[in-house]
Amino acid sequence: MVLIFVELDNGSIKKTSLEAVAYGAAVAKASGTTATALAIGTADATELAKAGAYGATKVLHANAAELANENAMAYASVLAAAVKNENAEVVILPKSGLCDAMGARTAAKLGASIVSGVTELPDVSNGFKVTRSIYTGKAFATVDVKGSVKILGIKKNAIEAVEGTGSATVEAFTPALNNGDFVAKVTGQEKASGELSLTEADIIVSGGRGMKGPDNWQPLLDLASALGAATGCSKPVSDLDWRPHHEHIGQTGIKVAPNLYIACGISGAIQHLAGVNSSKVIVAINKDPEAPFFKAADYGIVGDVFDILPRLTKAVKDAK
Ligand SMILES: Cc1cc2nc3c(=O)[nH]c(=O)nc-3n(C[C@H](O)[C@H](O)[C@H](O)COP(=O)(O)OP(=O)(O)OC[C@H]3O[C@@H](n4cnc5c(N)ncnc54)[C@H](O)[C@@H]3O)c2cc1C
Repeated sequence: MVLIFVELDNGSIKKTSLEAVAYGAAVAKASGTTATALAIGTADATELAKAGAYGATKVLHANAAELANENAMAYASVLAAAVKNENAEVVILPKSGLCDAMGARTAAKLGASIVSGVTELPDVSNGFKVTRSIYTGKAFATVDVKGSVKILGIKKNAIEAVEGTGSATVEAFTPALNNGDFVAKVTGQEKASGELSLTEADIIVSGGRGMKGPDNWQPLLDLASALGAATGCSKPVSDLDWRPHHEHIGQTGIKVAPNLYIACGISGAIQHLAGVNSSKVIVAINKDPEAPFFKAADYGIVGDVFDILPRLTKAVKDAK
């Protein structure tokens, strides 16, 4: 049996978790078994049943009051209890800060194997081999996973979450938790408002030093607004305070994996690419045809950003 942890955001299943369900369902199919999802926290049954459209046949819902706020220790205990309850052999975790923290704790509780950064479906034809991304996406390693319980943390965009017509039953799950699960108590959570989260965004428009200064961002913001995109930047841009630090993308900044990443006036240094190389489609706009970003991009536009951006924005608006 394959168990998938689905992460909730204000009662809705996150997109990355729907990808994890699709991934888990594909693993279950290849192994001749079924996929069950586990959700922790407040959500209504109709929302949770959505996991059925991505391949889960059952959703376990742990919704005790003390689990309302994300708590990696307690959530790991719930996940470990669900693994035992369902006799799960494979556990799938989407990529997120919470899941990274839960994965290691769950593995320790169960004495399970854990592999993170998994990029493809496992090869179950001879053992259980997975490919994982290493060295910030510059190389891949194949791991033969042993152990009766295998926990896989999957990278964003490892699989396309295609909505099908399947349905899932939703069952309450109430494992016994003890005080030790709540030694670190989350007393409240506040979400940044008004901006799209870079890690969840489908589209990101990002700017580098080629934008020339903090007062020149409007053409980039206009394109982002027309596309419903989040905005990001290179490290020097945030170091220079042209843009806020939470927009800094790359090896030392946020790692993103949108469906579309548009890089405007960014050279494409390896430290920047390390944060964007999981994007599905990359478009680079640069006036230098030799800019390294063009080697990593799916589409390249050679030109001046201040000429190209307004034309792109107009084209997007006209197409609507
Ligand atoms: C340890 C370490 C960690 C780092 N971590 C990160 C990180 O996480 N993220 C990150 O981004 N960087 C990081 N860096 C910095 C990285 O090496 C580069 O210096 C940085 O990414 C360059 O930023 P940039 O492309 O915006 O600027 P530049 O290198 O100055 O490039 C600007 C680009 O804009 C183009 N351009 C100029 N004018 C125009 C115009 N009018 N129209 C179109 N194009 C134009 C130029 O041709 C050029 O390619 C790190 C460096 C180190 C040493």
